Amino acid sequence: MPPDLTGLRPIPFLDLKAQQARIAADLKPRIDAVLAHCQFILGPEVAELEEKLAAFCGAKHCVSVSSGTDALQIAMMAEEIGRGDAVFLPAFTYTATAEVPLVLGATPVFVDIDPHTFQIDVEHLQERITAIRAEGRLRPRAIIGVDLFGQPADWPAIGEIAQRERLFTLDDCAQAFGATHHGRRLGSAADCTATSFFPSKPFGAYGDGGALFTESDERAALYRSLRTHGEGTTRYEVLRTGMNGRLDTLQAAVLLSKLTVFEEELEARARIAAVYDGRLGNAVITPARVPDSVSAWAIYAIVLPDTDSRDRMQAGLKADGVPSAIYYPRPLHLQPAYAHAHDGAALPVSEDIATRIMALPLHPDLTDQDVARICDSVLAHA
Ligand SMILES: *Cc1c(COP(=O)(O)O)cnc(C)c1O
Repeated sequence: MPPDLTGLRPIPFLDLKAQQARIAADLKPRIDAVLAHCQFILGPEVAELEEKLAAFCGAKHCVSVSSGTDALQIAMMAEEIGRGDAVFLPAFTYTATAEVPLVLGATPVFVDIDPHTFQIDVEHLQERITAIRAEGRLRPRAIIGVDLFGQPADWPAIGEIAQRERLFTLDDCAQAFGATHHGRRLGSAADCTATSFFPSKPFGAYGDGGALFTESDERAALYRSLRTHGEGTTRYEVLRTGMNGRLDTLQAAVLLSKLTVFEEELEARARIAAVYDGRLGNAVITPARVPDSVSAWAIYAIVLPDTDSRDRMQAGLKADGVPSAIYYPRPLHLQPAYAHAHDGAALPVSEDIATRIMALPLHPDLTDQDVARICDSVLAHA
């Protein structure tokens, strides 16, 4: 007899209330301090957060900004990437990765993914760069590697290709802040690392936010200028066209509080992922690990044989009070807004995975009973 899962409380896909209760004693005084000093823009908490985040991930500079998307945009604006430039990026990622080059007038060149880790396929990346150079229509300028679902992209291989091809590397680390690769936290694997503090990310604020990390003094100075309308050394000297891209002081205060529990939360996420692997690995395809890395576990994605079995699994889980989600139902080259920018290259893995992938709940406030129930339900419907 399968266990009776009916009538139990629905499990939240994400539980920001439980997390808030855990940090309440630290959070409230930090927010009150901001309300007392009223420096809502670039207040002291912003500088404190930047210092602590740079130390946390071992990067030389951290520049906080208004969102993960704005972080990507500021990074590309600093390189003056625009019309006629090719920006290589995976087809299977969140919208923003392709949106930013398009907003700046550049052309996204979609690259396929590895079917097991879902990260950018570095052999296909090299093929795409070679083909774009041979064609001669666009100027190859940058690679955006995405650390999809919290695992690192193959940064040593991407770095080698970029060096040989003289391309700028941008790490879209929106889902993977806190992950490690070859024993180091992400933050200095590329020329620039961009992350997001969107509330549902592993390190999320209570609103929009993001940050840029770099080892380069010049780039860090440019990012600071660009996030404040391109200002120079004095407030009303405008050196370049920038944007309004700062992180709010209140969000910095929230993030400082969350930083006090972040490592514990990363460990809790990894423990739950290991339970899922152990219990589900014989019934469904569980996520393959990027070698020598620790994921930030933004998303735990399983792969089913086809769309029908995914539909059945989602319906079965839902009936058992277990939420699930699909990241991503459509690769970006097939999105109505981006299809015109695609050169028609085949991207079979991205297209296939989109039809069969689904995400299970994974957050630090799942109880052991929740995790057991989720596993029971997946096994009952596999
Ligand atoms: C969330 C996300 C972004 C955008 O971050 P925002 O803070 O929501 O702007 C960019 N890239 C990836 C891969 C993301 O998951």
